[in-house]
Amino acid sequence: MAHVSVPMYWRTIPQRYRLVGHRCRKCGKVNFPPKGVCKHCNVSSDFEEVPLSGRGRVHTFTLIGAGGAPPEFAEQEKAGGSYPVAIVELEEGPKIIGQMADVSPKDVKIGMPVRAEMRRIYREEGVIRYGFKFVPEEGA
Ligand SMILES: [Zn+2]
Repeated sequence: MAHVSVPMYWRTIPQRYRLVGHRCRKCGKVNFPPKGVCKHCNVSSDFEEVPLSGRGRVHTFTLIGAGGAPPEFAEQEKAGGSYPVAIVELEEGPKIIGQMADVSPKDVKIGMPVRAEMRRIYREEGVIRYGFKFVPEEGA
């Protein structure tokens, strides 16, 4: 999730607005974000698109504090101090990183059920950028 230019941003919209993985036709594992060659078997580049549910569990997390935050997090850091960023293992298998929302940093736990929601991430060059954040899955 490094800085991307505006044209690059628009090209990546399908991955940012819909969680779509690539299921490898050889080994059956799901790659997200999509790669040229399957990262699981390292041979196949034959994929089918699969929608991801966005549901998963916190695999690990960290608290982003003052300084050193990537640009998509810097605005929020200024506004709200430290906040949790989690690596979530989706139920389809891929692990993806995202900011946690709607939860106090002290309440984030490894293994907690979460789901991805589209949220405003930050604003730059007059463009509001959206991406997914993870929120606690209620009733799970
Ligand atoms: Zn594979």
